[in-house]
Amino acid sequence: MNIEKLEQFLQENGLPKFRLGQIQKAIFQDGVFSFSEITTLSKDLREKMEKELSMLSFGVEKVLTAKPARPGDGQSIKALLKCEDGELIETVLISPKPGIWSACISCQVGCAMGCRFCATGKMGFKRNLTAEEITDQILFWKQHLRKNKIEGSFSNIVYMGMGEPFNNWKEVSQSIKILIDEKLFGFGSRSLSVSTSGIAQGILKMANEFPQVNLAISLHFASDEKRDRFMPVNKKDNLESLKEALRNYFTITNRKVFLEYIMLDGINDTALDAKILSDFISAIGSTHLLHMNLIRYNMTSEDLKPSSKTRTQIFKQELEKHGIHATIRKSLGEEIEAACGQLAGK
Ligand code: SAH
Ligand code: SF4
Repeated sequence: MNIEKLEQFLQENGLPKFRLGQIQKAIFQDGVFSFSEITTLSKDLREKMEKELSMLSFGVEKVLTAKPARPGDGQSIKALLKCEDGELIETVLISPKPGIWSACISCQVGCAMGCRFCATGKMGFKRNLTAEEITDQILFWKQHLRKNKIEGSFSNIVYMGMGEPFNNWKEVSQSIKILIDEKLFGFGSRSLSVSTSGIAQGILKMANEFPQVNLAISLHFASDEKRDRFMPVNKKDNLESLKEALRNYFTITNRKVFLEYIMLDGINDTALDAKILSDFISAIGSTHLLHMNLIRYNMTSEDLKPSSKTRTQIFKQELEKHGIHATIRKSLGEEIEAACGQLAGK
């Protein structure tokens, strides 16, 4: 929803200030999916708004719902959205437990970083999303829950869809402001998480601008030789500069950081890899502020395979032997291709 346009509309139609607050609450907090639902406004006004304004900056191309694999497992819903210029983006709503929803949002069409295991990376970079297009993904999910009478509330929003947030910081930081604005969405900073492939400068910017927003770093490899091979970002910001950035991040925020690690069979999942990873983490210091998330790899390429469950368990135990905390993350929604960029890429 374009907030400036809304304000302009109200001004042009001579409406008092309190109306803005009323409308903003209906749209951003209650999740109404049409202006006609805002019954505190006159019918004429609602009709005029319906004609002249639109709540979402994109159309809905497809919505896919995955059934939980086992009883008690979370649910996930994925949406493919079509922007005004025809570009496709995707967003996922995940329910880690009944009644709780987390949204995963995109910040770019495609991505310039070229990580070898990532479907979005393979698409290349098309364009940045605007702050409106980013936050509209949340608006869309709020509307979807309301429209379909799906119970539950939002707990988290993660910037883990398509794109590298620090390559579009202007719009991403603006979108964070909109999400935490009490007059708009009103989320707590701590319920937002930004994930980066490891752009050191971006990490520092975020520490200074939003010290309460959670940071996740897609580490995936703890040796420069391997990280260079799979993640071109490492040629510019190598492990040493990531280490520096993390130390500075801790000095500024004193907050926990999540390190993401996709488990690739025979590539980064051996006992030696666990040792190298543990050494890297110990060398950063503040290990109590670092948490490893071991993630199942969603196959996007023929030459890479996910590590087995047993191998992942052993890897986790190896880390723990070295005093590193790790969680094996259930891969939700694999059956609807919920991993990064896998739907829009088709
Ligand atoms: N560009 C940012 C955020 C989007 S990617 C980043 O890289 O952090 C979100 C997460 O999905 C990252 O941790 C990324 O490495 C991971 N990812 C990418 N491709 C994947 C795949 N095929 N299977 C599992 N995770 C993947
Ligand atoms: Fe871009 Fe993240 Fe995919 Fe790498 S993993 S290509 S940074 S979206």
